[in-house]
Amino acid sequence: MNYHVLTLFPDMIIQGLGESIIGRAAARGVISVEAVNIRDYTANKHKKTDDYPYGGGAGMLMQAQPVYDAWQAVVKTIAESGRDAQKARVIYVTPKGKPFVQEMAKELAREEDLVFLCGHYEGIDERVLEEIVTDYVSIGDYVLTGGELPAMVMIDAISRMAPGVLGNEDSGESESFSNYLLEYPQYTRPEVWRGKKVPEILLSGDHQKVEQWRLEQSMEITKRARPELYEKWADENQEYFIRKAKREERARKRELKREQKKNSLQYPL
Ligand code: SAM
Repeated sequence: MNYHVLTLFPDMIIQGLGESIIGRAAARGVISVEAVNIRDYTANKHKKTDDYPYGGGAGMLMQAQPVYDAWQAVVKTIAESGRDAQKARVIYVTPKGKPFVQEMAKELAREEDLVFLCGHYEGIDERVLEEIVTDYVSIGDYVLTGGELPAMVMIDAISRMAPGVLGNEDSGESESFSNYLLEYPQYTRPEVWRGKKVPEILLSGDHQKVEQWRLEQSMEITKRARPELYEKWADENQEYFIRKAKREERARKRELKREQKKNSLQYPL
């Protein structure tokens, strides 16, 4: 995966993504991150990249020309690397975009090149957006000062879904959102901390029971914190409830039989 970030603050990107798992993946060459300074492409002799909005209003807008030229430089870099630059999606991170969710991270992780466009001030001249942007994406219903943090959030989440980035290949699959459910609680050593014990079931060694406990915990947490996700999971997992109802019915019948047997021993005819 090759990321190209069009930004006025390239150091934010390089520093923000240079550490930990993403930094190591870049060092190993599993991903690459290029931060392109939009200011380097301005035709303005004072290196200006913004101006007042037509029609008035608060704040400044990023101008079309430097953004367009910076994007063209990225297109050239991709083509020179022997990849198809026409296929590279250009994501403008904006509060007006489609909400970023795990499913989108998974889908974008299949791309070879992704270009991120980070806005600043009041945003970017609409004409260049119309010209180059393929996807408008928001990381949440709030307004940040710039697109660098949203781009980094997305790059982090997408990279975790890209092959070879996480040590354990399944860890991205068994986490929150992977199947609508949020993750179950987890515990590590010591077994008792400040008088709190790790749930007994996790020490039982019974893999099936542990899985069942985790699923029930996930369902409970999701139902409480994100009922709309729980509904989706429940819709897609009707057979879970059918199996559960059958299990409960069998247990009820067993209990009834036990009671009848006990009664017949106590009060023989
Ligand atoms: N005037 C814009 C509006 O009301 O939609 C907000 C501009 S914001 C101050 C500056 C830049 O930050 C945006 O162009 C965008 O790139 C980025 N940004 C801010 N909040 C964001 C969010 N929730 N998701 C993605 N990008 C965001």
